[in-house]
Amino acid sequence: MTVKAYGAYASDRPLQPLEIARRAPGAHDVQIGIAYCGVCHSDLHQVRSEWAGTLYPCVPGHEIVGRVVAVGAQVSAFQAGDLVGVGCIVDSCRHCQDCDEGLENYCGHMVGTYNGPTEDAPGHTLGGYSQQIVVHERYVLRVRHPQGQLAAVAPLLCAGITTYSPLRHWKVGPGHRVGVVGIGGLGHLGIKLAHAMGAHVVAFTTSESKRAAALSLGANEVVVSRHPQEMAAHANSLDFILNTVAAPHDLDAFLRLLRRDGAMTLVGAPASPHPSPNVFNLIMKRRTLAGSLIGGIPETQEMLDFCAEHGIVADIELIRADEINTAYERMLKGDVQYRFVIDIATLAESAGA
Ligand code: NAP
Ligand code: ZN
Ligand code: ZN
Repeated sequence: MTVKAYGAYASDRPLQPLEIARRAPGAHDVQIGIAYCGVCHSDLHQVRSEWAGTLYPCVPGHEIVGRVVAVGAQVSAFQAGDLVGVGCIVDSCRHCQDCDEGLENYCGHMVGTYNGPTEDAPGHTLGGYSQQIVVHERYVLRVRHPQGQLAAVAPLLCAGITTYSPLRHWKVGPGHRVGVVGIGGLGHLGIKLAHAMGAHVVAFTTSESKRAAALSLGANEVVVSRHPQEMAAHANSLDFILNTVAAPHDLDAFLRLLRRDGAMTLVGAPASPHPSPNVFNLIMKRRTLAGSLIGGIPETQEMLDFCAEHGIVADIELIRADEINTAYERMLKGDVQYRFVIDIATLAESAGA
């Protein structure tokens, strides 16, 4: 079947309308009519080949929500009409230790929702800036939020799980002082989630203009990280820092804020490396510098259910598909509150090519 999509033919070309093929659903497949797709900074990194290795045409998008259109004969957990989501993973080996533990995100054969290997044409996966997607049932999530919130649920499928997973792994909860660095798509959800988990949240931003907004998102304190005196006031005080910044920066400025045995997890994935941190900032207080990649399928479902229970969705700006190139430029300037989401219905009006 052929569906309309938005994607790019080269790293230096804007996204444009195009038509792509989707496979007929197999016995274990779920065919999904996409209603909304969030716009992650990873989409921009990859469509512009900033991480290298992007295959073209590239159709980004891994924050997918919509309704089931049809299911394969062996699918019992989903039926036509169900509200569902698809995140960053559409396949994995299904038998390694990581897959057995529900950590498909760390499987060596994890297949990303776009730019991953597949037998489907054109030989690499094509993502959610498209009208439909066909996904093996193992990688389909159930959405329990009210339908009216569907557009704002979409960013949970990547930004939500990417921030939820490290907060859980490092056992963030009541009594913890947690820093969230960068108030963008990931960071604003990191603030909401850490707050809902009962932590005292300190938001760090480079943007003076986000000070008031960070408090309304659930931060207890806000620090403009460009002001050294404000930073110094938090030295040796935080149990955990979630760093979502999409650009190389001085990690020492944040490591110094961790108390003894504190940890900072990097989830931001800049195109070029951060300057190496000073070893003494780690050894003097037995601090940990860590990383984390999205989350596994069971934990993604847990996160969606946690968010439904706590009334958590993203703050979004809904855009038409043909506004995507402008949206990328605004995202690069940090000019989005706090996630663009594409209204996939607007793809129907695009020309296709
Ligand atoms: P985003 O919406 O653009 O937010 C990033 C935020 O980082 C900005 O809003 C800004 O916050 C801050 N920032 C950006 N450039 C900066 C600079 N030069 N100096 C200091 N701060 C800067 O991006 P996102 O979608 O949240 O994604 C963030 C990063 O996470 C990207 O690199 C993305 O690829 C990566 N990511 C990783 C995973 C994973 O599994 N690890 C998953 C998804 C995304 P302030 O204005 O508040 O300073
Ligand atoms: Zn993402
Ligand atoms: Zn595996």
